[in-house]
Amino acid sequence: MSFSSLVQELSLRDANSARRPGPAPSVSTFDDRASHVSRTMSGYASTAATSVSIAGDIGSQLHGGYFHPLARSWQSERQLTKSMLIYPIFVTDGEDDMVEVASLPGQFQVSISRLTGFLEPLVHKGLRSVMLFGVPMKPGTKDALGSAADDPEGPVIQAIQLIRRRFPQLFICADVCLCEYTSHGHCGILRDDSSLNNQMSVDRISDVAIAYAKAGAHCVAPSDMNDGRIRAIKLKLIEEGIAHKTLLMSYSAKFSGCLYGPFRDAAGSAPSFGDRRCYQLPPGGRGLARRAIIRDMNEGADIIMVKPAGQYLDIISDAKDLGKDLPIAAYQVSGEFSMIHAAAKAGVFDLKAMAFESTESILRAGATIVISYFTPQFLDWLDN
Ligand SMILES: [Zn+2]
Repeated sequence: MSFSSLVQELSLRDANSARRPGPAPSVSTFDDRASHVSRTMSGYASTAATSVSIAGDIGSQLHGGYFHPLARSWQSERQLTKSMLIYPIFVTDGEDDMVEVASLPGQFQVSISRLTGFLEPLVHKGLRSVMLFGVPMKPGTKDALGSAADDPEGPVIQAIQLIRRRFPQLFICADVCLCEYTSHGHCGILRDDSSLNNQMSVDRISDVAIAYAKAGAHCVAPSDMNDGRIRAIKLKLIEEGIAHKTLLMSYSAKFSGCLYGPFRDAAGSAPSFGDRRCYQLPPGGRGLARRAIIRDMNEGADIIMVKPAGQYLDIISDAKDLGKDLPIAAYQVSGEFSMIHAAAKAGVFDLKAMAFESTESILRAGATIVISYFTPQFLDWLDN
């Protein structure tokens, strides 16, 4: 039977059943069901459901919208592109380091002398942006004030200047914090009772941000979570006359938790005592995250970041909702990355499939920028 005659027959039947008195036709008897099965078996499906979809609720038919790979990709509000990715890099003050971080598969601590060789193939494949983390390894570098953070000879400022020279097309983000540089490993300056001195920490962290911006960083990204640091950095950028060429990305909603272990191995930033729960957000603190996002937008943040990403998709969605006119970044952190690697190694799923699935979920939640350790692989995968 042709499609047009099928439609005709069903329309006729619907018209007849509409005139028929008695119980609604959807209340079928056993005989009706038997005849339905026989009709289905005979080669076409003139069930009540089919007739409803053709004559009535046509919006029930969805498969036509995503039967083809390209059509499936069109269903995404945002599709992953190379320019959405920021690659986190750990730069050491060592002489000639290129050391793989055991807990962070395929990620390296790289010294300045090896940085050009490390970045060159990635830039060639289309790397657009990096996030720099300094890793001071030399003994005696760390102190209570994190003095080495803005040392002009230190790894971050050296890396910024080198990248600006060698790869002028690369957009440089510099993570701004003190925890890699403080002897106690906390993200600021401590009071005598070991709590964070917010005022002193903000003064110091905003100075570090200005030093990175003056060295040539396109973006400074404070990850410390001290109150008021976005405003302090923005004001100093204005004072220094560089606010117009420095993007301020705030780690606004940075949650405490157990997903940062491999990063702390890579950056050498584990606190020597206590934890960061008094300044990073509690995992259940959705309202607190929303307040932090609103605050940082009002203080002058150009981009809002949520971290970690996979466990906090609702917060990414909140950030997109609150910051409708801002780009939203999400950091798929070290623990997320290492978990995906471990599960893939255990045969739970394919690594590439989960790298895409997890990242596309982050985009679906509302992010337009993803800070990802998968960046080098995505540069290959997105070409194919
Ligand atoms: Zn920190």
